[in-house]
Amino acid sequence: MENDSPHDIYGIENWGGGMISVLPDGDIGLSNPLDPSMPRMSLPEIVKGLKQRGIQTPLLLRVKPFLENGVRQINESFAEVIKALGYKNAYRGVFPIKVNQQAQVIESIVEYGRKYHYGLEAGSKPELVIALSKSLSKEAMIICNGVKDAEFVRLAILSRKIGFNTVIVLESRKELDTVLDVAEELGEEPLLGVRIKLTHQIGGNWAESSGDRSTFGMNTDQIVSVIDRLKQAGLLHCLMLQHSHLGSQIPDVNDVRRAVTEACRYFSELKSEGAPLTHLDLGGGLGIDYTGEKTASPNSINYTIREYCSNVVETVAYSMDEAGLDHPVIITESGRAVVANSSILVFDVLETTLYDTPDAPDPQEGDHHLLSDMRGILAYLVPERIQECINDAVYYRNEMRALFRRGYIGLREMARGERTHMAIMSRIRGIAQASDLTTEIDMQLNQIADIYHCNFSLFQSLPDVWAIDQIHPVVPLQRLNEEPGRRAILSDITCDSDGKVDSFILSGGLSPSLPVHSIADDEEYFIGAFIVGAYQETLGDLHNLFGDTNVATVDLRPDGGVHLLQDTEGDTIHEVLSYVEYNPRDMIASFKKHVDEAASDGHLTPADRKQLIREYTDSINGYTYYE
Ligand SMILES: *Cc1c(COP(=O)(O)O)cnc(C)c1O
Repeated sequence: MENDSPHDIYGIENWGGGMISVLPDGDIGLSNPLDPSMPRMSLPEIVKGLKQRGIQTPLLLRVKPFLENGVRQINESFAEVIKALGYKNAYRGVFPIKVNQQAQVIESIVEYGRKYHYGLEAGSKPELVIALSKSLSKEAMIICNGVKDAEFVRLAILSRKIGFNTVIVLESRKELDTVLDVAEELGEEPLLGVRIKLTHQIGGNWAESSGDRSTFGMNTDQIVSVIDRLKQAGLLHCLMLQHSHLGSQIPDVNDVRRAVTEACRYFSELKSEGAPLTHLDLGGGLGIDYTGEKTASPNSINYTIREYCSNVVETVAYSMDEAGLDHPVIITESGRAVVANSSILVFDVLETTLYDTPDAPDPQEGDHHLLSDMRGILAYLVPERIQECINDAVYYRNEMRALFRRGYIGLREMARGERTHMAIMSRIRGIAQASDLTTEIDMQLNQIADIYHCNFSLFQSLPDVWAIDQIHPVVPLQRLNEEPGRRAILSDITCDSDGKVDSFILSGGLSPSLPVHSIADDEEYFIGAFIVGAYQETLGDLHNLFGDTNVATVDLRPDGGVHLLQDTEGDTIHEVLSYVEYNPRDMIASFKKHVDEAASDGHLTPADRKQLIREYTDSINGYTYYE
């Protein structure tokens, strides 16, 4: 099978979206999705080029055409479906800023999205401040969600005076009072939306953000009270948008249809209450197929963007036709699906801990019988008896450990026992690799997977891997034309035992270890984590005070080269210390005091003194990662 060739054991074809592939020389290559005729670029070569310019790994690579492709896909898919189905209105998507607020990212989205009248969604005051600094198309929308104080509302209402289509989505009955007060104070009418709490509950990691117990949106009772209050204030004509959001990464497209149907029911009820709704906002939730499995599971989805769009448009058209209403403008707030593919985290392997031993130690006079029995396993190790051999090897080793703890077996004999165990497991792994593994055996063999120590912080750069067992495709960036002879889990450089990646997507499904190559001592071996452009950057934290990584934004040039558009240095130690309220200047002063005291006691030469101070200040000004 093609998938089993050394080229695609990582399932790249399933999740790479045509942008990631393996080049003939075994490097990971990047293609330009906006111009597939362009030559592919070697990712490790890009990284080496950046290193030559002083941009070290770990590094977050943002690929501009990947981001633009995300914006293009959602807008063009909706436009195509609208045309194909004869829907009688437009799509006006907005990008939810919280999904990736980085200045470069938002600027690229706004620039590229202008021709689609693509807008922005702000869930907080700072995000609205970002949105209002951008030059959007005159027809684009700004949708304000989240809890709003009077200042937020004032800014939203006033922004209409300078041409922004800013809609205040009411999250609660109480918020309406704030809005009415501010509107009266300013003598200006707001554009209003109302956030509905749909009762339909979705599957996946975000099930709790949908349904009755969702903390957002209003139920029927609260909506009725908002309508009555608006009527009473004579402002029902301001209510032009209905909003609902089910949560992120909806795994099953049927949930989309059911939710949209329910949203449309509210829409027609609100219309018959006299609200002049023209815009139906269906929130985010369009998922990404991180594993490429095309199933309705937490890290996958059972649909394409195109299917999502046609389900939405078809359902809205059908419901509106049935209710005898005009087709509304359709808005979605898809974030993940737009930006996830745009960034790749690249890190280097610092060190490896190998868990295999080719040979069991020779028998010795007086060996404990458990050790001899364990060695005896080698005599009946055949593919049909793999499971039995694993069971026996684990049993004998554990018995020996028990005797060691009680003092019946000494250190050297125990060491020989551990080594014999490892040798047997390595032999089993060799045999197992050639035959079909059951998942159970795969898991057990994982006990002897190597540990590859990598230069990154999971908590800073892949927080969802830690928090919600998110799976990102992780792949070595070079030598993919060679059979990877080893299996490893990846550990990061924090001192936290959770700082590891031990679930990987391969072409055959999930695996607890990653196929990797043996690495020579002086070899640079890069690993990439893909599809990390959504949520990861801002959710990352300063565990062990590892800060932001270096970031490079690149464009792929038509001649196959790359153009470095922007590079942002990662945090220095100085910066992360300031975040946790140290004053680095004082710290240098107090370190100098230690040095001067030691110098005045005659313990230091002037050269020592100078070197100590230089090392300390260099560290404070340097990168937080391994250099
Ligand atoms: C987070 C959020 C989104 C984005 O959701 P995705 O699943 O990333 O598309 C959209 N709308 C609201 C209200 C949100 O809170």
